[in-house]
Amino acid sequence: MYEIGRIYEFESAHFLPKYEGKCKRMHGHNYKVMLKLRSEILQPPFGICSVMDAKPIQNSQMNMVLDFHLIDEIVKPILDQLDHQILNEVGIKYPTAERIAQYIYTELKYNKDSSKTLPYLHSVQIWENEWSYAEYSGA
Ligand SMILES: [Zn+2]
Repeated sequence: MYEIGRIYEFESAHFLPKYEGKCKRMHGHNYKVMLKLRSEILQPPFGICSVMDAKPIQNSQMNMVLDFHLIDEIVKPILDQLDHQILNEVGIKYPTAERIAQYIYTELKYNKDSSKTLPYLHSVQIWENEWSYAEYSGA
């Protein structure tokens, strides 16, 4: 099994209306997002990978799970929708770190537009600070 990871950041505000404590009030985080991809195979040296039918595999990607630049192309538009937003207002109803991780995972794993799905996605971690994270990895 191969595993690769990529870290991103975005800055957003949120509030947790039912929380008893400071997080009830609007505040911001510099969120760190860590994506993990797992695969038992590496990209073939030639040809087209069936998982990536919309994107032909080039020779430069041989022996990789997935090119980091290709991951960026898929992930950044999703994170741009969350950056400098109030997360409660952009489709995440109760934006705890757990729910943000689940939202990003679902957007990347099950996007209606197959060119926006991220192959081999295993899990999404959301770090609210350097000490705490939540992870979502599907069923
Ligand atoms: Zn918070």
